[in-house]
Amino acid sequence: ELKGRVALITGSTSGIGLAVAHRMAKAGAQVVLNGLVNDIEAAALCDGFEQQYGLRPLFVSCDLRDHMQIECMMTDIGRQYGALDILVNNAGIQHVSPIADFSPNAWHDMLAVNLSASFHTIRMAVPAMRKRNWGRIVNMASISGLRGRSGKAGYNATKHGLIGLTKSVAIELAPTMITCNAICPGWVHTPLVQKQIDALAEREALDNDTATRRLIGLRQPSGRFVTAEQIADLALFFCTPAASEVRGVAWAMDGGTTAQ
Ligand code: NAD
Repeated sequence: ELKGRVALITGSTSGIGLAVAHRMAKAGAQVVLNGLVNDIEAAALCDGFEQQYGLRPLFVSCDLRDHMQIECMMTDIGRQYGALDILVNNAGIQHVSPIADFSPNAWHDMLAVNLSASFHTIRMAVPAMRKRNWGRIVNMASISGLRGRSGKAGYNATKHGLIGLTKSVAIELAPTMITCNAICPGWVHTPLVQKQIDALAEREALDNDTATRRLIGLRQPSGRFVTAEQIADLALFFCTPAASEVRGVAWAMDGGTTAQ
């Protein structure tokens, strides 16, 4: 169903982004991968995709903290494929700290990766999408974009910002066939979340299973993780004709958390 479409998924070497890339490749898209891995890991990843789906992904090494590198990435994609049809702004980082101790460098990096990078990729992707009057922009926000949480001032600020960006871009593009939406996952078991489990385990002297249950129990009514594959299916749905008038939503998939 995505045959002939070119899809960039940022932060697709791990976790949710990797699952989204698999889902899009399975649906026939030419995927462009990105993330902080070395050349050997990137080549192995591309080999795996090629064996599984018959199309070799392009891997673009780009540190999303640097907007000059983002410009190079977008230029590379344009040169290779003409234009981008699907843009999934997925890369994100987490840093948990009380506000008074919050490292200004961590704040700066989080703002750059979680928010500014999406501003840059969107502004550079939209002209070609407009030319062909088709495009899908999916931003990986979080339920932290819908509510606050102690210790997550930086993360929450970036995710609220990303939802604001999503809404305004969606409205601006509403007369076109380009949509822009956000997904708000609850807890998904990825390396980003395992770090928070490890921190809790160490802080409270718990084993991994107890810390995991405690973390989910803190706020996810289902008591289960959402899976990366479920998030990927929602991202794919945004790319289908059925979703062409879904615009500017911040769609939670969170085991009931934001229903509380
Ligand atoms: P992850 O740590 O497994 O993967 C993050 C990806 O981003 C990796 O591919 C990494 O290489 C890449 N990345 C990080 N910094 C980068 C940079 N400077 N330049 C380029 N790439 C960079 O994380 P995840 O849990 O899969 O999270 C993916 C997205 O989903 C993030 O935006 C995160 O905030 C969001 N999210 C995750 C959860 C969850 O429970 N896991 C919940 C809500 C939202």
